[in-house]
Amino acid sequence: MNPATRYERTVLVFGGPYSNLEATRALLDQARRLEIAPDHVICTGDVVAYGADPVATVELIRRSGVRVVRGNCEQSLAAGISDCGCGFSPGSACDRLSAAWFAHADRHLDEDARAWMAGLPSRLDIEIGGRRLAVVHGGTETVNRFIFASTASREKQRELALAGTDGLIGGHCGIPFTQIVGGRLWHNAGAIGLPAHDGTTRSWYSLLTPEGDGIRIEHRALEYDHASAARAMRDAGLPEGYAAALETGIWPSCDVLPAREIAQAGRPLVPGQAFWPHSAELAPSRRREPAVDHLWPAFPKAEAERHKFRDPDFTADGHPRGRVGLRQLETLWFNTGTLCNLTCRNCYIESSPRNDRLVYLTRAEVAGYLDEIERNRLGTSEIGFTGGEPFLNPEMIGMLDDVLSRGFRALVLTNAMRPMMRHGKALLALRERHGGRLAMRVSLDHFSARRHEEERGPRTYRPTLDGLVWLARNGFELSVAGRTMWGEDLDEERDGYARLFEEHGIQVDAHDGARLILFPEMDPDAEVPEITTGCWSILGKNPEDMMCASSRMVVKRKGAERPSVVACTLLPYEPAFELGTTLEEASGSVALNHRHCAKFCVLGGASCSAGDRATKPAVGKNGVAATPDPAEALV
Ligand code: SF4
Repeated sequence: MNPATRYERTVLVFGGPYSNLEATRALLDQARRLEIAPDHVICTGDVVAYGADPVATVELIRRSGVRVVRGNCEQSLAAGISDCGCGFSPGSACDRLSAAWFAHADRHLDEDARAWMAGLPSRLDIEIGGRRLAVVHGGTETVNRFIFASTASREKQRELALAGTDGLIGGHCGIPFTQIVGGRLWHNAGAIGLPAHDGTTRSWYSLLTPEGDGIRIEHRALEYDHASAARAMRDAGLPEGYAAALETGIWPSCDVLPAREIAQAGRPLVPGQAFWPHSAELAPSRRREPAVDHLWPAFPKAEAERHKFRDPDFTADGHPRGRVGLRQLETLWFNTGTLCNLTCRNCYIESSPRNDRLVYLTRAEVAGYLDEIERNRLGTSEIGFTGGEPFLNPEMIGMLDDVLSRGFRALVLTNAMRPMMRHGKALLALRERHGGRLAMRVSLDHFSARRHEEERGPRTYRPTLDGLVWLARNGFELSVAGRTMWGEDLDEERDGYARLFEEHGIQVDAHDGARLILFPEMDPDAEVPEITTGCWSILGKNPEDMMCASSRMVVKRKGAERPSVVACTLLPYEPAFELGTTLEEASGSVALNHRHCAKFCVLGGASCSAGDRATKPAVGKNGVAATPDPAEALV
């Protein structure tokens, strides 16, 4: 293990000067004002990047005597490599823009600067407040690894295990955060040379101070002469997108950002503190899913938001709450159980190989509800199956057989991976007997493996694509569910799917909203208005178009004696939306007393109809029912 430098006093950490001379001057001035000695100031690398003044910034940093970890830009420049090594996807906007700014830096830096870069350490170890921390640029072993607040905890745990320390200070991703991962610290001070994509011109640094019973971590904003820095970039002929970013606080591209960070774009960060106590128990580094305590940044809900969605009859400001009556039970959904072979990052129902909050429904239980439909002549035409992964349920094929044999249409939401493929023969037999009444909807979150696996985990793309190809080749009635969480242009996203489908001979029209359904993300922090009885006419909406006007979902809670019926697929766990144990009991009206009712159904235009009541319900494995483009209608 590397020798560690011991600190008894405050350490200032900053990242990414990015050739921004004005920001670098401001940071060093700030360190002087705070009376923090240069050897207590640590830079997490990328001294050189987007900005106008690579030479002057390097000289200033060298003269200052602060400690610097080598970033990927220093690594590339020192080695004479012709690109920045940031890890941008080939052909992406970041990749194209980097060619210009990297060439600018490469042209101006001399051999002496490159030799200094070559001599920088790839890692510094420090000891502060009795804890040992590794300071790196990206990941412990991979200099250009992007690790964000939303990066899975098990990946951070892996990096921490590789570092062999109590905590890790990283840079590279450009957005500051502090988390405790299995008791260990993960801290990113952000970058000073570019704003944090938060819609402000400020950039970020931090102070780590040992205190009696732990370490205090302060995230501080840096104000500097961003107008001069932007002007210098334009004068140097550098890409306008990054010059504008200094003035708007918004990056020119979201290519490298995960969905969570994209969703938070433009929300101003608020300076704040976190505390890492000595009492934090360091979890064994082999734990599969370590607990994460996200300490900063926080986006507090406005006071008014806290009082919403409490009373089923009245909104927070006293208006009668909107309700939706059951027009007809057109579709009955069965949640076959929350167990899944995957643990997706943003699964609304938190399915995983261990989550059995909703247990497996049995064939007999499903048959009981089918009997009720027939007995009471409810006119239901379609039965939907969702999970978890429905094909993990040991009685799935029998349930499907019952549904189809009784003349219903069946729609199964699946990831089309091994659990489905194990039933290949049985599915072929069902398709043979019942033809197009058996439809499959495959969750392929994005047409690219990178984005799909960002959500669903490594090695999940290919098996799903293989399953999709198998279904297509064997003539199954097919649709695909994707997501719109990356802020991409929807037409471009459909074009991407179209290319993929064509390449693999998948007969799905990616430009047909009922065949490729792109679902918006649920943002639990978004501010939404409540729906009153007056909203229908004001918004020109019809309560009969809401999913709960034409469907219900059957779930079985762990420990419950029998299944129960909930209002819709979106709210499986909410006790207020549990309507009874029989379809008859569940046939009353539903009070729209949840944020999802407002955001996804009324304002987002979500319905089970996907714009056409004769088509299949537009419900994805993320549980969201949506028109082809509800995100555009969100307020
Ligand atoms: S979330 Fe939508 S479908 Fe579910 S109860 Fe609310 S309005 Fe109805």
